[in-house]
Amino acid sequence: NERRSITILGATGSVGGSTLDLIRRDRGAWDVVALTAHSNVDDLARLAREFGAQLAVIGEEHRLGDLREALAGSDVEAAAGAQALCEAAARPADIAVAAIVGCAGLAPVMAAIERGGTVALANKEALVSAGEVMTRAVERHGARLLPVDSEHNAIFQCLAGNSLDDVRWITLTASGGPLRLVGDLDSVTPAQAVAHPNWDMGAKISVDSATMFNKGLELIEAHHLFPVGLDRFRIVVHPQSVIHSMVEYRDGSTLAQLGPSDMRVPIASCLAWPERMDTPCEPLDLAAIGELSFFAPDEERFPATRLAREAAEAGGAAPAVLNAANEVAVAAFLAGQIKFSRISSLVAQVLDGGNLPPAPQSLEDVLMLDRAARTRASNLLETG
Ligand code: NDP
Ligand code: MG
Repeated sequence: NERRSITILGATGSVGGSTLDLIRRDRGAWDVVALTAHSNVDDLARLAREFGAQLAVIGEEHRLGDLREALAGSDVEAAAGAQALCEAAARPADIAVAAIVGCAGLAPVMAAIERGGTVALANKEALVSAGEVMTRAVERHGARLLPVDSEHNAIFQCLAGNSLDDVRWITLTASGGPLRLVGDLDSVTPAQAVAHPNWDMGAKISVDSATMFNKGLELIEAHHLFPVGLDRFRIVVHPQSVIHSMVEYRDGSTLAQLGPSDMRVPIASCLAWPERMDTPCEPLDLAAIGELSFFAPDEERFPATRLAREAAEAGGAAPAVLNAANEVAVAAFLAGQIKFSRISSLVAQVLDGGNLPPAPQSLEDVLMLDRAARTRASNLLETG
């Protein structure tokens, strides 16, 4: 068995940690090229030492001195700043795991794509914002995107060996989040919103899961990854999170992927693809789970999936604007500045207010759009 090399963008996060956990169990099989973080110097340095990384990059430029100090006496090279994140992503490696949160991860993902290798994509906001700019770059550079997001990984597996032309429906399952049965959404605190019933994730995606923006972003992500047409995607609430998504074919067969709610399963599927590898995950015990249930989403209470579908239908700049507004709203909610229901109303307001800019044609266009939409969202939060 040949050793393989890996770079992890966002190594100190939830997906980054799950990825490193798999690698830790089979140390001899992997060379770690680069690990990155945003501000968490201590964890980054600890992980870079443990895994013998060639390079550790901290996003916040002013922490370079701290990082150098934390890595003193090791062979790990230290770097900092936005450009260094892209350089880490561009280093030759068999696989780059894109696990930065938010549109902040877009430039590094594009750098990883431009190197022409395999990119395991967790960072959905990057694909939502860049859309065709990213999918065109994937084609141009002969890169391969493997979906880490559990739903998309499930769809990817259910599509294997089949033609997209034969697909009748793709059904994204949604847990419904921690607030599905909560009466008064306005009294929801950040702590309640991030307490997900099935998954242990970073704060931003946990809030997205509570608002259902996560499923909205995933719908946009899915229609780029699996171009069967937006009208062939459906969302169904499935609170047990056992079925991670399904594909129905024109002959009436539906294939589903099942598994425990543990990101190490889809991550392992990407790391080993097209083969399989061991994970320490508990086997599924369906008799213990007992029942699987399904509901239509409630878009009156949780308008996010409707907003996302409309943005995807509008195309062009709309998905990037939706994503940027949501990122600003989630940060404000987590900081205790706005109520829960203001998240989706702000996103709707930013999308409605004024003409959308033209469709982005390049990475620079997307980044400019993202910045402008953030400014508009922040201004609206101040003026109410
Ligand atoms: P976390 O918040 O746990 O981790 C985010 C990682 O990105 C950290 O390493 C963080 O560094 C780094 N980071 C944060 N902001 C920046 C920035 N501005 N520039 C550079 N690096 C940054 O997130 P998750 O692991 O939960 O999620 C990562 C991505 O994966 C998201 O897009 C999410 O939607 C997606 N995803 C996550 C799942 C999960 O189970 N967690 C499931 C499916 C998808 P630092 O530690 O220094 O802040
Ligand atoms: Mg998901």
